[in-house]
Amino acid sequence: MKPNWAVLERELRKFLPKKAVVSKRQELLVYDCDGLTIDRNCPPLAVLPETTLEVSKVLACCHRLGIPFVARGSGTGLSGGSLVEEDALLVVTSRMRKILKVDLSNQIVKVQPGVINSWVTRAVEGEGFYYAPDPSSQIVCSIGGNIAENSGGVHCLKYGVTSNHVLGLEVALPDGTITNFGGELSEYAELDLRGAFIGSEGTLGIATSITLRLLKVPESVTVLLADFSNMESAGLAVSNITSKGILPAGMEIMDKFMINAVNDLFGFDEYPRDAAAILLIELDGQKSEVKETAEQTSEICIRAGARSIRSAEDAKDRARLWKGRKSAFAAVGQISSSYYVQDGVVPRSTLPKVLSAIESLSKKYGLPVANVFHAGDGNLHPLILYQADAPNIEAKVRELGAEILRECLAVGGSITGEHGVGADKRCYLEWMFNPDDLDTMRLLRSAFDPKGLANPGKIFPTPISCAEASRRKVILTTKEKDEPLDIEAF
Ligand SMILES: Cc1cc2nc3c(=O)[nH]c(=O)nc-3n(C[C@H](O)[C@H](O)[C@H](O)COP(=O)(O)OP(=O)(O)OC[C@H]3O[C@@H](n4cnc5c(N)ncnc54)[C@H](O)[C@@H]3O)c2cc1C
Repeated sequence: MKPNWAVLERELRKFLPKKAVVSKRQELLVYDCDGLTIDRNCPPLAVLPETTLEVSKVLACCHRLGIPFVARGSGTGLSGGSLVEEDALLVVTSRMRKILKVDLSNQIVKVQPGVINSWVTRAVEGEGFYYAPDPSSQIVCSIGGNIAENSGGVHCLKYGVTSNHVLGLEVALPDGTITNFGGELSEYAELDLRGAFIGSEGTLGIATSITLRLLKVPESVTVLLADFSNMESAGLAVSNITSKGILPAGMEIMDKFMINAVNDLFGFDEYPRDAAAILLIELDGQKSEVKETAEQTSEICIRAGARSIRSAEDAKDRARLWKGRKSAFAAVGQISSSYYVQDGVVPRSTLPKVLSAIESLSKKYGLPVANVFHAGDGNLHPLILYQADAPNIEAKVRELGAEILRECLAVGGSITGEHGVGADKRCYLEWMFNPDDLDTMRLLRSAFDPKGLANPGKIFPTPISCAEASRRKVILTTKEKDEPLDIEAF
């Protein structure tokens, strides 16, 4: 049955202020996609609630009328998670931007979901604390979006992804019920529904307030920049550093294409232009420990084939070295009118093999691929560059993206590291999980949302969207993950 938008709008206007209900198409167009611009669809109606109670009332209204809804934070997601595909109400959290509580004696902060990631650190940095998960989009993405995607970032190698830093969640369930998972302590005598909710991509309800763990700023920080004449040596340096038991705060690689893109964007030569790859390594801790580890790490890089090592100790120099990495996607945006980012994960030791496979695939498809990635986590981000007006280009780009993910799976990896499944990668879920695995996940989802109203169609394969995947019928069960994958079967 088609939703009755007029009835819903009338009901919503009864308790929401005028400016919190958006129904004009020209105003709704800003929500027609997230950071994955290849898929677009304008939502029929959007609301911008300000409080938990307003979110709860909005969801209760949808529940009563049987109308689906999609949560949206800042819309920087890269898997089409906040895209409204079916007729659904868009619930935007960008007016929920209050920092509700700062408690430094317990090292916690409580925020509304629309609070921007970097604002959390900004609120406490004068006191010597910070919030560790730092997606490259941290100056725009919201904490609610980070929760839904279980986002990672440069510092997640040492400190863990979002789920390691969330103590409690207040959630509006799809029928409007307000409930709490966890709280301000690290452990509670309850089922870990907080763990289930984090990473559920808006399919279990809407997080309305979040209690986060803060960390103390380390005494000393050094960033090393090692440059290499080939990618294999950079990959080898990463494996050798970790196999020596060194755990950097972050370890990131950029390839030649990306190096020159960011140098051009900023008009600087911060990264050596003739390098095939650079490796950025951040080390933190006690002063003496950092000094010793930096020497050890530099030696490992030189032995792996680094041509030179640059070291930055003061905050300004470190920021200069990180600036290009943090702006990598923006730099590519300057070169190509469109790009499509993939987000595969591979065991670190297989990085050189998979990167060389990506290079071959780029040649096969005749599409440039730029690489920037969380090397320490084996989390690849190949960016496929294309001109959106070229004929049949989208199918070609998606096929190349799928082939890259197949390469990741073939070495025991995953189809997503941090960007989530969303709309973009649901077709590939069957490649990783067998039908029983998927049914178990669906069962959990329907316990939260029996009517299937929260972010419908996302994550799980559907017969229509996965026509392509089911035609190929390749199922890599979790139990068979260690067995070699027959690529020919694809
Ligand atoms: C340039 C760039 C760099 C990036 N770098 C990284 C990176 O380093 N690491 C990384 O992990 N990601 C990265 N991303 C991806 C993206 O920024 C993250 O996924 C981020 O967490 C999305 O937050 P958002 O507020 O934009 O969420 P949105 O895009 O608005 O939504 C994402 C998902 O969260 C759901 N959602 C939003 N708010 C809520 C809520 N309150 N309750 C329940 N569900 C909700 C939505 O329904 C959707 O499914 C990058 C993106 C860009 C554009």
